Amino acid sequence: MRRWWNSIRRWCADDPPSVVAWALAVALSVLWLGIALWPRTEASPVEPMVRVRVQRAQATVTLGGAGQAAIRLDDHPPVRVSLPIEVTAGERAFVRADRVDVGTAVVMIEVDAGDGPTLRVFDRTWNGRVRLLVRDGAIDLVIEEPLERYVAGVLSGELFSAWPMECFRAQAIASRSYAAQQMLRAAERAYDVDVDERDQVFVVSGPLEKAVEAARSTRGLILTDEHGQPLRAYFSSTCGGRPASARQIWPARGSLICNDAEPLNGPARAHACQGAPLYRWERRRGANEVSARVRAWGEAVGHAARRLGRVAQIEVVEQAPSGRPGWFEVADVEQRRVRIKADDLRVAMNYAGSRPLERGLVIPSNDFEVAFERDVMVVRGRGHGHGVGLCQYCAAEWARQGFRAEQMLSAFYPGAGIERVYE
Ligand SMILES: [Zn+2]
Repeated sequence: MRRWWNSIRRWCADDPPSVVAWALAVALSVLWLGIALWPRTEASPVEPMVRVRVQRAQATVTLGGAGQAAIRLDDHPPVRVSLPIEVTAGERAFVRADRVDVGTAVVMIEVDAGDGPTLRVFDRTWNGRVRLLVRDGAIDLVIEEPLERYVAGVLSGELFSAWPMECFRAQAIASRSYAAQQMLRAAERAYDVDVDERDQVFVVSGPLEKAVEAARSTRGLILTDEHGQPLRAYFSSTCGGRPASARQIWPARGSLICNDAEPLNGPARAHACQGAPLYRWERRRGANEVSARVRAWGEAVGHAARRLGRVAQIEVVEQAPSGRPGWFEVADVEQRRVRIKADDLRVAMNYAGSRPLERGLVIPSNDFEVAFERDVMVVRGRGHGHGVGLCQYCAAEWARQGFRAEQMLSAFYPGAGIERVYE
């Protein structure tokens, strides 16, 4: 452009240009403007890769296989080495390839098998890249998975294989949206999602056939919020009839402003999960035992609950539109009172610290009431999980009744859009 502009200026400076020259210059300017302003066809977006942290805090990690792969230690240039690669944690991570020392790393080791040999991790082979993150004297293993294959792996980990296809399709769109939102949020981190309930349960070894089909038939579809952004489409096992509001149970500011999205904070809705094993439940636990866990949790996170003595009363003080508790007030025998968010109280009552909690005593959701029978706490509750967004048992039942995935999603995430973000 600059050369073109300069050539017009030179004409003007040297000889007065003829009418023809002016006309030519104007015509060329119009042509150039037309080209510059012509709407560009965007390259069609392609399916992204998701970085999944499949192992945490390992002492050693072995990448099996035969042949050669490129390995990069921290920010050094990559070198080619022979498989298998063994990494041992320490202050620095020690790397050996085919039993020969390669070097050490303090932050990250990247192994790229390219299109050639496959890496063997767990019981699965991988093409492409694997990263090992060195952290606190241990190693985290991060693999890269195409988003659609990741979604199929999540469906295989989150749903029962006998559940109907429309339930799988609804979960596929929700899980893809959650992953897309998390990928935006985690752009600065070395991984996007964890392999387990911290994000979504992902089956590393390979997906069910039905899960692959559900991903294929919803390919590229995500839910969007009222600003057109990917929705952090939370889901849980059993809503128990009283869905939760995201902003009421979690922070909704900073990097979690996404919890403020309208589709995650809808009004009360119909439900269909009465057949779920944890639709209603009861747990009987010693008041001293629970009080000690709540105190230990308060100590660990710096909450005033650390000063509580033996808990004598737990009452709901704020509710979601569905009636589900948002906040509890906890009082001890000395009448010391603290307010705790409902989901935090569930976490506090289950807090393991150095004393693991027997599986049958775990409080499964944050929707409960507590009665006291002498020194026994009787906790009666509804549902399993946090209760925000899609309820898997509701979705399974609605699918059996003939509802389509899109209809169910508009009940679970009221007001959400559905958009295809790549073909
Ligand atoms: Zn439900």
